[in-house]
Amino acid sequence: MRAALGSKHGEALLVTHLPNIFYLTGFTGDSGFLLVEPERTSLFTDGRFRVQARVEAPWAKLIMQRAGLAATVGAHIARAKLSVAYSPSQLSLATWQAARHAAGSKVRWRAAEGIIEALRALKSPAEIAAIRAAGKVACEVMHEVIALVRPGVRELDLAAEIGYRLRRKGASGESFEAIVAAGPRSAIPHARPGERRIGKNELVVLDLGAILRRYCSDLTRTVFVGRAPARVKQWYRAVQNAHAAACDALRPGVPAQEVDRAARQVLQRNGLGRFFVHSTGHGLGLEIHEAPRLGKGQTTLLQAGSVVTIEPGIYTEGVGGIRIEDDARVTADGSELLTRLGRDLLEI
Ligand code: ZN
Ligand code: ZN
Repeated sequence: MRAALGSKHGEALLVTHLPNIFYLTGFTGDSGFLLVEPERTSLFTDGRFRVQARVEAPWAKLIMQRAGLAATVGAHIARAKLSVAYSPSQLSLATWQAARHAAGSKVRWRAAEGIIEALRALKSPAEIAAIRAAGKVACEVMHEVIALVRPGVRELDLAAEIGYRLRRKGASGESFEAIVAAGPRSAIPHARPGERRIGKNELVVLDLGAILRRYCSDLTRTVFVGRAPARVKQWYRAVQNAHAAACDALRPGVPAQEVDRAARQVLQRNGLGRFFVHSTGHGLGLEIHEAPRLGKGQTTLLQAGSVVTIEPGIYTEGVGGIRIEDDARVTADGSELLTRLGRDLLEI
């Protein structure tokens, strides 16, 4: 991280985003700031996390907060006469004002976004193994829960089964609140599961993810309750083909937006372009959404070691939605899917 910060001699980095603090130190407490100075690293937290911090980040200098985390860090910065890089998007205005006030007017602050996120975008073999394991659990639960889909079952019942079964298989939690959306509600890409009962002749979108060893997976399948009409089959095939095109385009050296374009072109050719209302995928790891993003305007070149979702979908208001999502890693010469589960249309 110090090498990535590079540049200015003597500059420190203030890390305020907990996943970044975990990434750099292993500290899992839910309150803390990290200050990376050229010669030492200080972890600021409070009494609740004293023991945890000593065990998880024994090499960091532990500083207990007094009168608020931001003020404590600010006072330390003032004493050490540091210039400080920080990420404005990961700091509330109130926290920023408190830190600046305590640090005094002589401290030079430099806004620097994405330094740690760029490191996190390239996964180590251990990180990829964790995401692969999280993906395996997600696939198993998806397989089991699809078997429970039938008319009369509520979306909430299936969401509860997802949460329970993920934990029974070792997940510490869900990467996000599982999406179970039936019928017209499946046309809402991020529908919250509700009281609605699944009916006959409906599409059902299931989107779930496991957190395992702190890493996330993200998986979507869409099934049809009943015999799918020709129109639905045709839409489904188009999404399947868009998914395949994106997987083919995913390789090192390619701008991220090219993967999105590959999926989008397939849907446009099928007259469905306007129903694809989000981007093709996102990085995932310690968080469910991280770098790189596979969307329009993303010119970042993909590198081996990144893990992303591939999730084209179409959404027709009042009718329903179809999304197919898998997790893939960029390899030295292409890509590999980390989630393995059939992608053909299931008629239940
Ligand atoms: Zn998802
Ligand atoms: Zn996703």
